Amino acid sequence: MDISHLLTSHSRNMEASLVRELLHYSQQPDVLSLAGGLPDENLMPAYPELKQLTDSRQYGPSEGEKDLRECIVSIVAERGIQTSTDNVLVTNGSQQGLDIVSRLILDESSTILTEQPTYLAACQVFKLQGAKVQDVMSDAEGMSVSALRDAIEKHHPKAVYLIPNFQNPAGHCYSLERRLEIAALLDEKNILLIEDDPYRDLCYDNVDLTPISTLIKQAPWLYMGSFSKVLWPGLRTGYIVSCDAFSPYLVKVKQAVDLHTNRLGQSMITQFFKSGQYPDHVIKLQKAYKEKRDVMAEALNAELGDLIEFSLPAGGMFFWVKLPAGVSSQLVLTEALKDKVLVLPGTPFFPCKSSLDDSFLRLSFARVSPAQIHQAITVLAKVIRQLV
Ligand code: PMP
Repeated sequence: MDISHLLTSHSRNMEASLVRELLHYSQQPDVLSLAGGLPDENLMPAYPELKQLTDSRQYGPSEGEKDLRECIVSIVAERGIQTSTDNVLVTNGSQQGLDIVSRLILDESSTILTEQPTYLAACQVFKLQGAKVQDVMSDAEGMSVSALRDAIEKHHPKAVYLIPNFQNPAGHCYSLERRLEIAALLDEKNILLIEDDPYRDLCYDNVDLTPISTLIKQAPWLYMGSFSKVLWPGLRTGYIVSCDAFSPYLVKVKQAVDLHTNRLGQSMITQFFKSGQYPDHVIKLQKAYKEKRDVMAEALNAELGDLIEFSLPAGGMFFWVKLPAGVSSQLVLTEALKDKVLVLPGTPFFPCKSSLDDSFLRLSFARVSPAQIHQAITVLAKVIRQLV
């Protein structure tokens, strides 16, 4: 597959870091390396109380730790993505995955298509490269296929960025039919798919989660995952799985931006997966978050059912609430904060000024207890009723 037309002129001519390429030789015990800038392990503090720290003390590979990449290969295999460690890049959260991909393909002459609304920090990254972000009408089943076709024909985008499972912020989950239609269209037009899937394991209802990347037959694709929503966000660990053609380029950008992801975090995540605790952990998360989701739905219906619109998210962390006509989400934020309740106005999730909508709130149920959800929604209801 030739992807050179997707790369910016800078990334097409990017050189690999020789130091990084030679690193694996320096890990062979019979090689005397005078090459890298690796410090002497014997001079590092031993700190025996934290064994993982000692194991992770030296520089590591830019691709990520081999054993973590093996875990990721089996994680995505369960999702239907057949790949090898060569096509897995460990990143500093999926946010860095977005940054790396953006650096590779986007510049001032590029357009990227997104859902409407979409994850605000993805747009931040795309815009930082000077790219134009064009949103495409989306409904409860996902991005509209006819609107996507029109947008591809009109804007000639470099890529389409989608969050098909429990979308941030709208909470939507794509139907299988929509996934198939979008994959077929991207194949037809040979457009790169960037599929961002950090919420997938936070699934509370019986919905189809087939990655669109697996439905694509010939177009290029990149699939991003993260451990932030299911393990420890502070470890900043995520990954990109790519079709073959992309992997060498992605690694070169990773070399340039930060050499490699923190090894201690990678080691903690690998150990957790190898311990076999992950399946039970996910069941625990699903049970707890599902309960909170239901409590929030109940509270919203009971307190505001006559005024607002929302649909029940089948997974993830967010309700996307449409406020009554004329009520500004910014004003709701200001007023609710006076009563110590913090809500997120939906405006920053609209990348294009033309589609900007001030009538949505994003409410997360993840970090509050059921009792706190009731308390917060009571305040919110009071504020909204005063503003109607
Ligand atoms: N993509 C989406 C859709 C997200 O919601 C988030 C986190 N809010 C990220 C990517 C980034 O996640 P992280 O960098 O923590 O893996």
